[in-house]
Amino acid sequence: MKTTPFWWEAAEPQHGERGIDTGDCRILIVGSGYTGLSAAITLAEAGETGIMVIDAMRIGEGASSRNGGQIGNGAKFTPAQATARFGEKRAREIMEDYAASMPFMLGRAATLADPIDLDLCGSVVGAHTRKDMAKLHELRDRLAPEDRKNYEILDEGQVRRAVKTGIYRGAMIRHDQGSIHPAKYVRALANRARALGVRIFTGWRFSGARRIAEGHVARLVDVQEGASADVRAERMLLGVNGYAGPEVPWLRRRTIPVQSYMIATEEMPFDLLERLIPGNRMVGDTKHVLYYYRRSPDGKRILFGGRARFRNSTEEQGAAGLRRFMEHTFPETRGVALSHAWHGNVCFALDFCSHAGRMDDGIYYVSCCNGGGISNQTHLGHRIAEHMLGRPGTDRGVIGSHFPKLPFYNGTPWFLPMVGTWYRFLDRSARWFD
Ligand SMILES: Cc1cc2nc3c(=O)[nH]c(=O)nc-3n(C[C@H](O)[C@H](O)[C@H](O)COP(=O)(O)OP(=O)(O)OC[C@H]3O[C@@H](n4cnc5c(N)ncnc54)[C@H](O)[C@@H]3O)c2cc1C
Repeated sequence: MKTTPFWWEAAEPQHGERGIDTGDCRILIVGSGYTGLSAAITLAEAGETGIMVIDAMRIGEGASSRNGGQIGNGAKFTPAQATARFGEKRAREIMEDYAASMPFMLGRAATLADPIDLDLCGSVVGAHTRKDMAKLHELRDRLAPEDRKNYEILDEGQVRRAVKTGIYRGAMIRHDQGSIHPAKYVRALANRARALGVRIFTGWRFSGARRIAEGHVARLVDVQEGASADVRAERMLLGVNGYAGPEVPWLRRRTIPVQSYMIATEEMPFDLLERLIPGNRMVGDTKHVLYYYRRSPDGKRILFGGRARFRNSTEEQGAAGLRRFMEHTFPETRGVALSHAWHGNVCFALDFCSHAGRMDDGIYYVSCCNGGGISNQTHLGHRIAEHMLGRPGTDRGVIGSHFPKLPFYNGTPWFLPMVGTWYRFLDRSARWFD
């Protein structure tokens, strides 16, 4: 079993330029995932020059080349919860941001020269309990009639039409969602950015910045050699999501990094997988500790993911937990060999909302994908870039929303094992009383 992402077989992250050229930088972007690259593309398309993206790893080597490739839009809270947290106007705008993310991402994908295996195959949400099923009904009933056609409800007896397992109390299919190859997507974004004149440097870690009259001077450290370089930039953006380190304490106090694990099976008979997950749809569920799975783009493997453990673990430990749940979901997979096991970092906010804006020191940021960010981070990268360009009316919705911090917290989520145990208890007990 390889301990690198299955996706890297077709699109291993590439190195960027190595020797930092500090001369012509005007905009410095830290992080070469969907956020940073999408922002770079919008800025370059607007005619900005001197855009430099840096990353401590290779291009897109963070979550953007490691995820499940399930694309959709949707907030992790209801409009009523958003109104209680942000007030009516801001909440409405935030929900608009979430709704706009998938159409935006599809538009951006259409501008890319490289293939990304985009497939609007639909997605399935399996209901863990009858109560969750009622919530799925409610969600669909509240939609405008023209949107409702994309949502199909399956009761307990019909679930197997969408996914052949007995573990759900019902399900909802979303016909407007689908999948991509995540590593090909981040590579295609990088190629598009470079074609627009953006320079991407890798193996350089941002280690802090000081403010000057014309912007900032950022200190970069060569990850391999330890050498450092100072780069002047008029504007700076941090798109570091679940990889924020001690160099950005403002973000660390507000964000909770969580490791998410995935496994891929060896190739299995196509007909068997077509019976288990017909039509190559994406699948997730309604649990607190959710699992998500899909077939590989060629339909021959199962890729299974979830927060297998709430303490930092090896790939093998993560894989063991995921395998147990995969076999529980599909007994037909018992004993099948695994080809890959890997993990990546996602990032949560206390209010489960994405946040973007400007920190106290004037540096821009986008953070907190809350578990799912392919379309959302692509869109927010674009939105923050528009804000950096000074376009009127961009300080709305997620941009500039109140970003809560956790008291007595410095970015090390010591409480996660306890939260994990509590969430697992909630999931189990919800089923006992169902
Ligand atoms: C296992 C897994 C499965 C997932 N599945 C899905 C899914 O199916 N659907 C979905 O929508 N989302 C999914 N996600 C979430 C999605 O991958 C992320 O939301 C998205 O990739 C975040 O993009 P980003 O650009 O904000 O951050 P990242 O892609 O994580 O990029 C951040 C980059 O910042 C760099 N960095 C950090 N600090 C520094 C520094 N000081 N100096 C230089 N560079 C730095 C890192 O090296 C990293 O490359 C999943 C995530 C994981 C881990």
